[in-house]
Amino acid sequence: MKSFDELLQISVERHGHLCAGQVIGVRMAMLGCRLIGIDEPLSPLNRKKIMVFVEIDRCATDAIESVTGCHMGKRTLKFKDFGINAATFINLETGQAFRIVSTEASRDLAAEYAPEETDARRQQLAGYKRMPNEMLFDVQKVTVHLPEWDMPGPPRRHAVCERCGQVVRDGKEKRVEGLTLCRPCAGEGYFQILRN
Ligand SMILES: [Zn+2]
Ligand SMILES: [Zn+2]
Repeated sequence: MKSFDELLQISVERHGHLCAGQVIGVRMAMLGCRLIGIDEPLSPLNRKKIMVFVEIDRCATDAIESVTGCHMGKRTLKFKDFGINAATFINLETGQAFRIVSTEASRDLAAEYAPEETDARRQQLAGYKRMPNEMLFDVQKVTVHLPEWDMPGPPRRHAVCERCGQVVRDGKEKRVEGLTLCRPCAGEGYFQILRN
């Protein structure tokens, strides 16, 4: 794997700015890859072996994408909208998986690891770079249920909504009172259609 500094630089270029999220995300992804036994996540040999679940749509997610090469368009990056600074790294070949959570305590500890920095933002960046993994992260060995239709590759299943006719791929249809429905028809829409 490339060094932390190299990976941080690449991730900052992609993300657009240097921030605590880039430092934490790069470190989290490096640790995650190491824990699941994948040293070169971007090598063509490994690209299909790794999947990541992220639990927040903020800065660190971009860093995790850039280090692991996982992304939504390839179905190797999954988003769970939990509002938690955490990600789970899965080796699809061995089934090994680790969930890594950024600790709340690390926010206060940053000052102790970078006492010479007077500016709060710089102190946070320097502190997060130096802090040992044990302080920065909580690590859980986990197992993740992965339905076949959530895996990379062509859609395994197509359904047709019995209310509006929309084709729904990948097993994402709902059964409601005996009917097969798309999510919007099942009342799970995030939008309202405006008629004029
Ligand atoms: Zn950022
Ligand atoms: Zn529908």
